[in-house]
Amino acid sequence: MTSRRIATHTLGCKLNFAETSHLLNQFRMAGWKVVDFNDEADLYVVNTCTVTAVAEKKCRNAIRQAVSANPEALVAVIGCFAQNASAAIAKIEGVDIILGNDRKHRLLEVVGHERPEWFDATSAITPERHAFERPGQPTEFQISYSQEDRTRTFFKIQDGCDYFCSYCAIPFARGRSRSATVEETINIAKEIAAGGAKEVVLTGINTGTFGQDHGENLLQLLQELDKIESIERYRISSIEPNLLTNEVVDFVAHSRAFLPHFHIPLQAGSDKVLKLMHRRYDTAFYAHLLEHIKAVMPDACLAADIMAGFNGEDEATFKETIRYIESLPISYLHVFTFSERPNTAALKMDGRIEIHQRREHSRVLHEISERKKMQFYSEQTGRTRPVLWESDCKDDMMYGFTDNYIRVRRPYNAALVNHITPFVLEKLNQKEEVFDGK
Ligand code: SF4
Repeated sequence: MTSRRIATHTLGCKLNFAETSHLLNQFRMAGWKVVDFNDEADLYVVNTCTVTAVAEKKCRNAIRQAVSANPEALVAVIGCFAQNASAAIAKIEGVDIILGNDRKHRLLEVVGHERPEWFDATSAITPERHAFERPGQPTEFQISYSQEDRTRTFFKIQDGCDYFCSYCAIPFARGRSRSATVEETINIAKEIAAGGAKEVVLTGINTGTFGQDHGENLLQLLQELDKIESIERYRISSIEPNLLTNEVVDFVAHSRAFLPHFHIPLQAGSDKVLKLMHRRYDTAFYAHLLEHIKAVMPDACLAADIMAGFNGEDEATFKETIRYIESLPISYLHVFTFSERPNTAALKMDGRIEIHQRREHSRVLHEISERKKMQFYSEQTGRTRPVLWESDCKDDMMYGFTDNYIRVRRPYNAALVNHITPFVLEKLNQKEEVFDGK
């Protein structure tokens, strides 16, 4: 049988990317060839995101591209948007399979049902009917990790969220918080280590709630992970401020392998707006947390999500947010513009902000982020930081990240790939946002 070809397009968070990678591995093991999304394939998979209206628009565009690429191909739409809007997606002509988050890891089975002729008699596929089924609340947990990159792996340790922030549709798309046990997670981490990756990025929807369904917690996991000597670096991809306890921060600061790099969603710099968002901390708590991190890890890179134009963010309140952010030791911002999501509490609130104002707030926040980033880069210029070197070669240069997440480059040297070496950050190439040095 000639190899079938699969092409994927992934939108959204690192969790989605880890899950796509896990799926691709299943297909590879079943004899499929992975091709680019722009190439001709037999199966196109769009792993979708529902975090904003813009994300959904991008999903629709990717679905359209898949549908028009090859009329003979199957088109599968999976993930968060598929979970929350399966009826709307079913109306898009040419879509063959829709699987929400609960079932997307079973895509291979579903394809086996739709096109049994694509599988030979020895295939272990047990066909089941899943296509166009309206998925219920996701409850299964599928631990997974990305395998495309030799140096860095995204490791999904947790899924779902119980927080129901008033703007967020993710709990509807991903279900309640759940994870494997510490022991099960460590066993998979050892498998990752055996594959040779030096850096593991711990990902989840609400990573800080790891273990709560088993009477365990994130700190216990971090302590055990740190003992796996062949993994030289861990990053925690994103963690809610109220779950980033002083114990976790202090552990990271003194650990063998956890890096001084945190991504801590802030969302607003006004207590009034944070309350409306149903966030579980206030500005004083967040500022204190950052102060503590910088006290124990002065070179830490601190990233923050911030939302522009949520309900109640009038001009006076936005000024408060700006003043607050300016006062924080944040290294850069991830700016999102608020958009109304179905089923969320924000839909029933007063104080809507005009779209043009939301855009203007977003523009100002992007500017602040740029300034913050340049400030961080200038503080780091001249420092020596450890860099993990990647395999890609561009114009005879190789690239890598410092422990505190600064992109750097040096002349290519194959012997350095997947190794960590000290590097002096000499000069920032502002256009390409990369440091040259030695
Ligand atoms: S913590 Fe809030 S913003 Fe994050 S996924 Fe949960 S509900 Fe959404």
